[in-house]
Amino acid sequence: MKKIQKILIANRGEIALRIIRTCKQMNIKTVAIYSEADSSSPHVSSADEAVLMGPGPSIQSYLLQDKIIAICKEKQVDAIHPGYGFLSENADFCRKVIEAGIIFIGPSPEAMEIMGSKLSAKNAVKHFETPLVPGTDEPISDIKVAKEIASKIGYPILIKASAGGGGKGMRIVKEEAEFEEQMNLAKSEAMSSFGDDACFIEKYVTSPRHIEIQILADHHGNCVYVFERECSIQRRHQKVIEEAPSSILTPEIREKMGQAAINAARSCNYTNAGTVEFIFDEDKNFYFLEMNTRLQVEHPVSEMISGLDLVAWQIKIAEGHPLTIKQEDLKINGHAIELRVYAENPRENFVPDIGTLSVYKRPEGEGVRVDDGFEEGMSIPIFYDPMIAKLIVHAENRNAAIAKLKEAIRAYKIEGIANTLDFGLFVLDHPQFLSGNYDTHFVPNFFKPEWLDGYLTKDEQDILASFMIAKRHVFEQDTYRDL
Ligand code: ADP
Repeated sequence: MKKIQKILIANRGEIALRIIRTCKQMNIKTVAIYSEADSSSPHVSSADEAVLMGPGPSIQSYLLQDKIIAICKEKQVDAIHPGYGFLSENADFCRKVIEAGIIFIGPSPEAMEIMGSKLSAKNAVKHFETPLVPGTDEPISDIKVAKEIASKIGYPILIKASAGGGGKGMRIVKEEAEFEEQMNLAKSEAMSSFGDDACFIEKYVTSPRHIEIQILADHHGNCVYVFERECSIQRRHQKVIEEAPSSILTPEIREKMGQAAINAARSCNYTNAGTVEFIFDEDKNFYFLEMNTRLQVEHPVSEMISGLDLVAWQIKIAEGHPLTIKQEDLKINGHAIELRVYAENPRENFVPDIGTLSVYKRPEGEGVRVDDGFEEGMSIPIFYDPMIAKLIVHAENRNAAIAKLKEAIRAYKIEGIANTLDFGLFVLDHPQFLSGNYDTHFVPNFFKPEWLDGYLTKDEQDILASFMIAKRHVFEQDTYRDL
């Protein structure tokens, strides 16, 4: 067992700050890295030391693997926390870190590789009592055989790229006549986007919910599940509101899903914190989608209902400590909801916005948590994920949490950049959301941008109009994928 004294955080923004907070509580020294675009970021000033990596584009800064390892050696760093995005799921980087004698706070590179491809993940978990969406678990090579399987499964079906991610590389096929054409298109798209044309087919679940299970696994064979997160409120197949617990799960289904998640973790000898994503259908069947081998953006909702500090556990597990929590000790306490406050314009199909936070005032109060990485007057750099903050609330039950989140959204003042705060009010007021009975089609089915104006006073509408001048939107794609 090695006591970690110093951690380099190979990330930026809110997640770097969040990791630094726990390190401070654990008396661990921190080294931040940053790009020129982030030189005035709070994550730089909060760390004990900080090293400039290079210009804004992540390929010239946050993704410089060898430079990160060299800094660790120079600064006598014991461990790297990769956060999410960037290098967090890069097995080659993980291997290099370990070879350099540095602890990687995350799973083994082998586990990352198994879960990094959808097909190898399916093949690993299928022997471990984890239900899979009906479909194939080998790449499709013979169209005739694939068509036979598709008609057995029943249309609509979904063609997926094994190497796909971030909601990309998926095609819905409604009937057999379209099959061949869609398969050829899917393959060539997969080749050009991911350099690998392996595709497989799955039953298309028409009314799916996205429910994921947080797990923690140590190096001594212990694994627990820290309940679920309901992540069905998505725009462009990407999450925007998450809550825990899910209104749809009974204690029995929760236990079954938790056990299935533990089995998925066991299938790749998983260690550290991870998330097993499931798709949940109208008949309350759940199927394995994928495993994310890192800390998730939405981990705070699990922290708030469980009372655990997941980053602290990540560090303890990396040091070699056994999990001292037993499954039966974990209890769900109340309800938590997170709204991702994105620099995006919900009035214009969520196009990312850039600019300066001319006014930035956070809400405060008991059970209100803001994880962010900006201060008033700062600009949102164009190079990275356009998330400004995560606003998380915790209350004794779902209705109280919804009321608290609405109050916190109203108290949050952001000017200068379009954002998803009022979109959050729209969701929280919607009868379908209030009923708890919603699926991943909620936004396309119910959201009408013109309804947002009802949430703003005349003054607020004028302020918004004044800064929503035409702005150029240049974003580096693929820095973050499916977070
Ligand atoms: P990615 O890695 O690209 O994010 P996932 O497999 O995690 O792909 O799926 C992303 C989203 O696509 C899910 O949250 C869900 O909304 C939808 N999806 C995935 N598989 C299916 C399916 N078989 N049927 C219906 N929707 C699906």
